[in-house]
Amino acid sequence: MAGKDSSHAPQQKEIQLSFGPRISDFGFPPARLEPCHRGANPYPRRVGIVNVALGERSYDIQIGTGLLHRLGPECARLGLGTRCAIISDTNVAPRFATAARKTLAKAGFAPALITIPAGETAKNLKTVEACYNQLAAQRFERQSFIVALGGGVVGDLAGFVAATYLRGLPFVQVPTTLLAQVDSSVGGKVGINLKAGKNLVGAFYQPRLVLCDLRTLVSLPTREYRAGLAEVIKYGIIYDARLFQRLERDLPKLLRGNPRILAAVVARCCRIKAEVVRQDETEGGLRAILNFGHTIGHALEAISHYGKYLHGEAIAIGQVAAARLSREILGLPAPDVARIAAIFRRAGLPTRLALNAPQRQKLLTAMQLDKKVRAGEIKFVLATRIGTVKFGQRVPLTAIQHILNPPPSEVRSTCRHSAKEDRLRRMGPPSTLSH
Ligand code: NAD
Repeated sequence: MAGKDSSHAPQQKEIQLSFGPRISDFGFPPARLEPCHRGANPYPRRVGIVNVALGERSYDIQIGTGLLHRLGPECARLGLGTRCAIISDTNVAPRFATAARKTLAKAGFAPALITIPAGETAKNLKTVEACYNQLAAQRFERQSFIVALGGGVVGDLAGFVAATYLRGLPFVQVPTTLLAQVDSSVGGKVGINLKAGKNLVGAFYQPRLVLCDLRTLVSLPTREYRAGLAEVIKYGIIYDARLFQRLERDLPKLLRGNPRILAAVVARCCRIKAEVVRQDETEGGLRAILNFGHTIGHALEAISHYGKYLHGEAIAIGQVAAARLSREILGLPAPDVARIAAIFRRAGLPTRLALNAPQRQKLLTAMQLDKKVRAGEIKFVLATRIGTVKFGQRVPLTAIQHILNPPPSEVRSTCRHSAKEDRLRRMGPPSTLSH
């Protein structure tokens, strides 16, 4: 099944991170920090644990460095089954599958590896079917489990395979992109795309464990790392004004991959997502806030055939558009709109689109296919101020059209950033870090 990666330029610089010995929190109420294995502690380092409290479907998100090597013992501790299949992609498997297989084999499992093509274009039914066929050919039975080793594409797809093969096998998420660590691996939304739209087929199916090994981010291309920052910034806008302020202050360090700040930010984002999912597992209401910027973002991904924009880039554009709509509909203060646009720009993410009339029409049509559309009405998550949003907001078509085609006077940049940040944005992180 291996194929070529079509989602990003492979020659990009890789982000350089080097990790200190422990997570330290970043001024937030601390994540439960504890040696993760009780009894004889095999960990030289501490691990942040965020629990997703969902009754019998509860699970832990472990955040730390070197956790990949704990995959086998953790799966054994949870008693997940006797055999397992690792689903990974063509970029991630060569880097991390050997370590994953080793720890799983040592813990007594007989791990098989299924490698899917890298990139969003592989997140489809054809790839799912190929995974089913491999599982069947290798006679995977109900006492088996699945490990999703990769970014959000692998996590969503492998989770969907786990939810549906033999009517459900347990699964573990080992996210290897920033986006997957702070967002997609948590909360149990699994699924695939159709040509007609993103994530149109899927399920709510919770993993049994999420292992965020920050060290896997070392090989992540800069562009992907920045795309992950789009989801990080989202948490500040929708839930946590203090996080937003800290991101404004510490963005240069985060762009350089400062391990202390990165660990704290990942833990904070996971805690916010866990809390939202705890309150509303299946998106009856509150969980919709996580879709801030996604109505336009998903439509943009669909009309560009999942090839031009990374998910994080599309939702960066979508969030800035949602902030502008929030100004029109809910009176989000203009300085807040400017701060939102500025932080995405400073993170090196796109913030607007230059669309001609037919393209705008295509985007509007695609938005109407979004899952959030009820009775033909597009509903948005809009902000009243940074840190507070309202979901289910009706937005007139004319307002969306205005946002997609603003007069030139509104297009002027309000962003101010230092020459140093400018350089960082253009060049990506330096190859050696000081922290
Ligand atoms: P991705 O999975 O495509 O990964 C990005 C790229 O980086 C891929 O080419 C991948 O092979 C490569 N990669 C991954 N880890 C790497 C590593 N450590 N080193 C080097 N290369 C690595 O994309 P993503 O941004 O992680 O996830 C995007 C997907 O997540 C979208 O499909 C989106 O819909 C989904 N998503 C789901 C949820 C959810 O709640 N389920 C939430 C947000 C996003």
